[in-house]
Amino acid sequence: MKVLVLNCGSSSLKFQLIETDEAMAREGRDRTLAKGLVEDAGGTAVLHYEAEGKKPVRDAIGAFQHRKAVEKALAVLTDPENGVIPHKDEIGAVGHRVVHGGEQFQSSVLIDDQVIEGIEAMIALAPLHNPANLQGYYAAKAELPDVPQVAVFDTAFHHTMPREAYLYGLPYSLYQRFGIRRFGFHGTSHRFVAGRLAALLKREGDSGLRLITCHLGNGASACAVLGGKSIDTSMGFTPLEGLVMGTRCGDLDPAALLFIMGREELGAAEASALMNKHSGLLGLSGLSNDMRTLLEAEEKGNERARLAIDVFCYRLRKYIGAYAAALGGVDAIAFAGGIGENSPAVRERTLRGLEGLGLKLDPKRNGEAKGKEEQISPEGPGARVFVVPTNEELMIARDTVSLVSPVRD
Ligand code: AMP
Repeated sequence: MKVLVLNCGSSSLKFQLIETDEAMAREGRDRTLAKGLVEDAGGTAVLHYEAEGKKPVRDAIGAFQHRKAVEKALAVLTDPENGVIPHKDEIGAVGHRVVHGGEQFQSSVLIDDQVIEGIEAMIALAPLHNPANLQGYYAAKAELPDVPQVAVFDTAFHHTMPREAYLYGLPYSLYQRFGIRRFGFHGTSHRFVAGRLAALLKREGDSGLRLITCHLGNGASACAVLGGKSIDTSMGFTPLEGLVMGTRCGDLDPAALLFIMGREELGAAEASALMNKHSGLLGLSGLSNDMRTLLEAEEKGNERARLAIDVFCYRLRKYIGAYAAALGGVDAIAFAGGIGENSPAVRERTLRGLEGLGLKLDPKRNGEAKGKEEQISPEGPGARVFVVPTNEELMIARDTVSLVSPVRD
């Protein structure tokens, strides 16, 4: 089946056309036929598209609208010259990344009116993302009215966190009245990476398998996975908590924020922008939110770049230690995301000093591993460490197929 995977932001649409079915997924034979992005670039949306054996396409399409973006994506996918399917009827299902499923959605679901209501109910918790995800649904519905659509939630994988991991030390009534708790995000990525680790270790279905997955991109989170289930993760009520990220501060004493708001006379919106947009690697370095730029600057002697990278790696190391404690030991760790997959230096600095936990890198393997699934720890006893390129879109396509395929015996 050909599945159109949509990931809608407030002014962007990422799409992939993926061919998969249950057998292809089982054997890892599923494949991405084409991928693209429609993104607002200063008032004009631009389409970027690529497919194997075809010329890449770049095209301006006027002001960004989700409906127009989906229309454009379908037009390029069916284009006689650069497309990969002759007609949009070839698309058997649409899978959406949906950011917030709250406590209601514990797994992926076929979208119907009730599901739409559930996604709408979560808008208060994800005011930028959930409305965009719904826009994507309506746009696809208009273009492909008879095609089933599936929602795959960023939060769902973490629904197995126990209460002691998801509750804050706040009055319990705030959880009861407003649902203030930790949800965790990046769940589709952590689920994919944990699944790959279990397969690499040949321990699928082992309820005692202890894994730590590190998704390190512009947004970053770590997850403790026991027997295939998330038992803790670093993001919380929102994606702000936890690791230091490109522009987000991660963990912070809330009293420090109150103090800054008083001194700088900041309102809630400004305080939110401070923590979400001007902090993290960007705020610490004063230079960039981009790890590659910081690593290059550090090479040239930029001390603030070094400081930002040090804080990033130290915070992650602390989480790995905490999750080793939560899991009662570690069998394997994975590094994923743009930084995790491509930066030997960050991996090395993060795991430095963790030999006592059985975590060691093979310098040669680590130095050479870039963007490919590979073991980077030495052979022998101790935990194994891997680079695992994540693939959220593939996970979404697989979930979609399994929900829309007729149930078989
Ligand atoms: P993502 O959000 O997963 O696309 O990851 C983006 C982050 O990955 C940015 O901070 C990039 O600088 C970082 N990144 C990509 N390639 C490299 C690389 N070769 N070395 C270090 N960081 C990288």
